[in-house]
Amino acid sequence: MGELERISEHAATLGEGPCWHTQAQLFYWVDIESNIVHVHDPGTGSNRAIDVGQRVGTVAPRASGGLIVALENGIGALDLESGELEIFHDPEPDKPNNRFNDGKCDPAGRFWAGTMPKSARVPSGALYCMERDLSVRKVLDGVGVSNGLAWSADHETMYYIDTPTRHVRAFDYDIETGEIANPRKVIEFGEGRGYPDGMTIDTEGMLWVAEWLGWRVGRWDPASGELLEEIRLPAAKVTAPAFGGPDLDDLYITTASIDLSEEEKAEQPDAGGLFRVKTGHRGLGAYEFAG
Ligand code: CA
Repeated sequence: MGELERISEHAATLGEGPCWHTQAQLFYWVDIESNIVHVHDPGTGSNRAIDVGQRVGTVAPRASGGLIVALENGIGALDLESGELEIFHDPEPDKPNNRFNDGKCDPAGRFWAGTMPKSARVPSGALYCMERDLSVRKVLDGVGVSNGLAWSADHETMYYIDTPTRHVRAFDYDIETGEIANPRKVIEFGEGRGYPDGMTIDTEGMLWVAEWLGWRVGRWDPASGELLEEIRLPAAKVTAPAFGGPDLDDLYITTASIDLSEEEKAEQPDAGGLFRVKTGHRGLGAYEFAG
């Protein structure tokens, strides 16, 4: 394991959505509560912050240019040149207390993202899939906090995290139709651990899961449910990992500083930072939205 480095001065309130865009060699991440999409170019070290004017849960690169964004009020596209936003669809106009949270594209170029309540702790969220023709269908209902998604390299399994359930679920995946079936628990986060949040997968099929209030990202074997390795972070609220970099061997990790007490802030001066570490493993870049 290499040394963990903090790579952005920006301290996010709620850093999330790390995403490596292989075709552009750019890294994107968001600060949900600050309405910001960050574009980081590790080649030049430059950072660009784009204010999208509402909460933004996640982003995904779009093959035709720009980004797909999951927002407080629906799913849309962000033009990276002009900063202009185009909303495609709001699947929850009747749920003003919900917002979009984590999401990403599947290997066939569909965009998957889910919602969560902004305050009340009721499972009023859902998981949605936007097809390449921009139609949106609801896939799961009764979701508490829709979070990490990953697909196995053979495209036959989808992994999903609904954070309050404290486990990672696997589904059989049909890459042709985007249908999921046969849900089962594959990793359990019991007492004494954090809450599973964002997730990514490496080339060996192992899952990397960020732990909210757990101070770490763990590498897990979904076949055995065993913890294989862990990366400790200097922040309790670890939100999401993503592999990136020219060789896809850098693990980027987002964190949050939201709702920390003054004492906790003093203990965690790097909370909200974006981190990077070489783990000795390689991942996959983000899939692009093909619509
Ligand atoms: Ca999250």
